[in-house]
Amino acid sequence: MATVIAICNQKGGVGKSTTAVNMGAYLALSGKRALLVDLDPQGNATTACGVSRADLATDIYRVLLGEIPADAAILKTKIEGFDLIPASLDLAAAERELADAPEREYVLRGACEPLRSRYDFILVDCPPALNLLSMNALVAADSTVIPVQCEYLALEGLNSLLKSIGLIRQRLNPSLRIGGILLTMTDFRANLTREVAGEVKRFFKDLVFDTAIPRNIRLAESPSFGKPICLYDPASTGAFAYRLLTQEVIEKEGAGA
Ligand code: ATP
Ligand code: MG
Repeated sequence: MATVIAICNQKGGVGKSTTAVNMGAYLALSGKRALLVDLDPQGNATTACGVSRADLATDIYRVLLGEIPADAAILKTKIEGFDLIPASLDLAAAERELADAPEREYVLRGACEPLRSRYDFILVDCPPALNLLSMNALVAADSTVIPVQCEYLALEGLNSLLKSIGLIRQRLNPSLRIGGILLTMTDFRANLTREVAGEVKRFFKDLVFDTAIPRNIRLAESPSFGKPICLYDPASTGAFAYRLLTQEVIEKEGAGA
């Protein structure tokens, strides 16, 4: 049965989609069956997987509305064993349209249920807001990975996110775990990275992944070629870090091992 991991932070531009795509790719290269669900109307994970959003026949929006079953929306990526449910522009309307649905926080969870036996990991790329879409991701998830950019005020946003996760655990999904806090775009030569990383580790201790993701231009370039870093530049420092992170996740989650 798949472990569902929501990649979540209400703050924008912290590395959620980059993490979702590259972790998914390395999970598959490690022999795990991985599915990435793009739950962000921006569709960055979809584009980064090389899927054009212009001519999508199906997407997660139609799954959430109950128009098609989730397995009918699955696309293959360039990597064997790494599949994608893409997000079209329509997803922007889902927030409003789901608002009146019965059990509206449980829609994604229900849709993913039949897929759990087909994958070892299902990753969900969340939008940069704690809205109904993100709530659906956190209710569907067993675990959450929280990318945090090492910058000023990083801790503040993190505290409010963890509070919200606590509430979701109390009210909607008691089995939700914090899979880990991931330091992203680090540059350990810079004082700010060292200070923020030190502070996050002092506060959250074992919750922080040993692996941090360095700022690496190759990671920033690869989405525009529609390729995960393992295809774009497997020898880059970014590729190395995401490969290590993925091993850490496999060990921590223990799923499909
Ligand atoms: P949003 O909240 O808008 O969905 P996000 O949290 O998904 O953003 P990404 O899209 O993954 O963040 O990253 C934001 C930008 O930073 C992108 O242009 C991405 O290519 C770049 N980026 C991500 N990680 C790194 C990194 N380690 N080094 C350099 N650039 C990075
Ligand atoms: Mg994103």
